[in-house]
Amino acid sequence: MTNWMREPLHKHYAQSLSVDNMLYDSETDHQRIKVFENGTFGRILTLDDVVQTTEGDNFVYHEMLTHVPILAHGAAKRVLIIGGGDGGMAREVLRHTSVNHVTMVEIDAGVIEFSKEYLPTLSQGAFDDTRLELVIKDGAVFMRETEQTYDVIIVDSTDPIGPGEVLFTDTFYGHAQRALTENGILVTQNGVPFMQGDELTNTLRAFKALFQDWGCYTATVPTYAGGPMAFGWGTNGAAREVTVETLEQRYADAGLSCDYYTPAVHKGAFALPGYILKLLP
Ligand code: SAM
Repeated sequence: MTNWMREPLHKHYAQSLSVDNMLYDSETDHQRIKVFENGTFGRILTLDDVVQTTEGDNFVYHEMLTHVPILAHGAAKRVLIIGGGDGGMAREVLRHTSVNHVTMVEIDAGVIEFSKEYLPTLSQGAFDDTRLELVIKDGAVFMRETEQTYDVIIVDSTDPIGPGEVLFTDTFYGHAQRALTENGILVTQNGVPFMQGDELTNTLRAFKALFQDWGCYTATVPTYAGGPMAFGWGTNGAAREVTVETLEQRYADAGLSCDYYTPAVHKGAFALPGYILKLLP
């Protein structure tokens, strides 16, 4: 008898994933953490039964939320990750030897500790990289208090429910904008627009007030069910205008070889279908 996990993220639509082998199931002060094996996606991490990341398709999400802003910026040295407890975002950022400091602010130490043990293919040693500064704190509090500045800020949070909710507020985005360097870029995990369109509209309404260049780009992550996922984009620089030729050169100089990201996919990701364009404020 197959045991299925049904994801409760949406009111009228759900995905189910077979739980072929439950590896970890525990409650922290913040959320219910589960890791289980699935025949298609390998090991799957859920927080409060919402899929966070999987061994099988995390490359799409982590490559597109890191290499797009970092290669578009062209000279990113300091990167801030809000969330990212599984270590996959840090893994991809740290592939850039030009980056000399990564601050990762994660609210739940429990996610980091068990990710090291149960999801080592996600972090791939990122937590041992001397460039990584790990801060266990609410990202909203960190953003309010920090006096540091960053070239790229990546919000790799859960959805705007539970502890992640504070990371989708105008106040948080205002503090993030203040912490960016002159041509700095803020990118955000902004859900699947077909299912969570209001979240994207709300984020971009705040970005429109904060940035000269605001919008989103997309990629399809199979376990973020319901169609392409949107990544919020905000900057007061001209990074969006970078040519594919320049991206090709930067990609080669960085010595990257990705399974999803390419310079052409980077540029194409900003071409939005009509139903997403209609969500822009
Ligand atoms: N890829 C996933 C997605 O798109 O939903 C996100 C993965 S990552 C596991 C999400 C992380 O955000 C979790 O480790 C969670 O603990 C963290 N998180 C949630 N709320 C937070 C907050 N207010 N401050 C810092 N980290 C937070």
